[in-house]
Amino acid sequence: MTLFSPAVASQATRSQREPELRASIIQVNGLEKTYNTARGALTLFHGLDFEVEAGAMVAIVGQSGAGKSTLLHILGALDTPSMGTVYCASTNVAKLSQREAASFRNREIGYVWQFHYLLPEFTALENVAMPLLARGTSKRVALDVAANWLREVGLEERGDHRPGELSGGEQQRVALARALVNNPRILLADEPTGDLDEITAGRVFGLIERLHASHGLTSILVTHNLDLAARCTRAFRLESGKLTLLPTPQNRPSTGTIESI
Ligand code: ADP
Repeated sequence: MTLFSPAVASQATRSQREPELRASIIQVNGLEKTYNTARGALTLFHGLDFEVEAGAMVAIVGQSGAGKSTLLHILGALDTPSMGTVYCASTNVAKLSQREAASFRNREIGYVWQFHYLLPEFTALENVAMPLLARGTSKRVALDVAANWLREVGLEERGDHRPGELSGGEQQRVALARALVNNPRILLADEPTGDLDEITAGRVFGLIERLHASHGLTSILVTHNLDLAARCTRAFRLESGKLTLLPTPQNRPSTGTIESI
């Protein structure tokens, strides 16, 4: 089993030094995903096991086609496993009906993709308010809460701008506000800075780090950028269906242990 556990030395020292650490919020056991393709069955993750401790910020790197997006989709109940159990925020995501999965995503998961997928005909404020409106919040409250989130991402002046009037970094900041407006416990980000220049990518990543910390999130980020991955609690490479810990500074033994069996 591979544990994505940040800084776990012994229970005694952990409770003294790191009282903020909590139990696992994601538990995956025996995960397999098989796609039927024109070339036959394609199976990803041959029995993948891992856990993510609440509050961790985990990076996943790996070659295109390794299954990174599929893994995020399964964790976020956008896709289903073919085998194995996946508990995410105390929910067995494989057992959800489509309706339950939509409700689970709305409550528990903030999702950010490489491309912002903001609705072009709505303003930034309306885009951020959308998940609240989807769960039945009144328009007045939804717009108020959305305005607060735009302030959190530094775009309070841009609420009435449409996505096409914003830069790539600003669009991604609006997408982050939209992802978090329902106060989810888990942020899943699939190449969130992949479409941005280096400086803007660093700024957006810094914003993710800040929001992760200030909102007590558990975050899983897929990225090709090893420098950004090294800033996470843990960084893993997904290769041949397995997760291997990367030797980043934060992954060194002095900050914790990782178990593999
Ligand atoms: P990554 O995010 O690491 O680039 P993906 O998770 O997108 O990888 O895809 C992993 C593999 O699964 C790829 O070979 C891809 O073609 C395949 N795949 C993904 N989704 C589907 C699907 N819906 N049907 C068939 N094959 C798929």
